[in-house]
Amino acid sequence: MTGPKTSGDKVPIQPFFDDLKKHLKTTTIGSLKANKTPKQVHAVADTAMDAFATSAAGLEKLVPPEKPLACKKGCAHCCHLAVMTDGATVLRIAEHVRTSMNQAERMLLDMRLIVYEDKVEKMTQSQRSMARIPCPLLVDGACSVHEVRPLICRAFNSYDAEICDQKIRGGGSTSEIPSWNVPWLLGLALDAGLKEALVESGYKDGDIELGLALKQALDHPHADERWLAGDRIFSRTAWKARKP
Ligand code: SF4
Repeated sequence: MTGPKTSGDKVPIQPFFDDLKKHLKTTTIGSLKANKTPKQVHAVADTAMDAFATSAAGLEKLVPPEKPLACKKGCAHCCHLAVMTDGATVLRIAEHVRTSMNQAERMLLDMRLIVYEDKVEKMTQSQRSMARIPCPLLVDGACSVHEVRPLICRAFNSYDAEICDQKIRGGGSTSEIPSWNVPWLLGLALDAGLKEALVESGYKDGDIELGLALKQALDHPHADERWLAGDRIFSRTAWKARKP
C-alpha cells in the first residue's frame, strides 16, 4: 500500500508523530532487551497497535476529518493492495490465527495462503504493487484478523469509496485517493518506529510482504522461537532480498 492523497494540516502535528515514533522505538528496544520470549514479541506488536488506537482517538478530537470517511465493513478495495509489514506483527497475527480460528477457518486460510504464494512468490515488488490480489486474510469482504491487522491497514482510509474502486480496481495510483491525513501519518510514524526498533534489536527482516510472511510463520513449527534465535524465517518474503 502507498499513501493516499492527504489534506494539509490545520495544526502542526508532525512533531507529535516524531515523538511518538521515538517513544515507540525506545520502549520496543527496551522490551525486547528485557525479555526475549514469544509473548514479549506479541506484546511489542500489541503495544504499537494500541498506540495507534489511542492516538487516533485523541487526534480525532484535535484534527477531525473534513467529512465522514467512506471506510466500512464490506468495503475492501484497499485489501487488494500489497501489504508490507514487520516480523513482530506477522508473528502476532500468526498467534491470533492459531488461537482464534476453528479448524475449518484455518483450513480455508491455509488454502488461500497456498494460492496467494503461488501467485505472488515470483513477482517483483513493482509487479506486486501493480497487481490487485485479495489479501489471504480477507473473508467475505472483511478482515479476519481485524483486532491484530498491520499498522498500514489501520492507516489507509478514504473519503470516497468510488475513487478507491476506480484507482485500486482500475490499477491507478492510490496517491490520488482523497483521505484523512491523521491515520496515515500516525501509521507511518508507528510503523517506522517499530521497524527501526526491530532492526536495532537484531531482527533485520526489512519490509516483509504480509501474505508470504504469514505463510512462513504458520508453516514453521516454533516460528516465534526460531525468529527470536536469529533464524531468518522471513528472508524469502522481504522484497529487497528476493530474487524472483
Ligand atoms: S490484513 Fe486485513 S485489513 Fe489488512 S489487507 Fe489483509 S484483510 Fe485487509
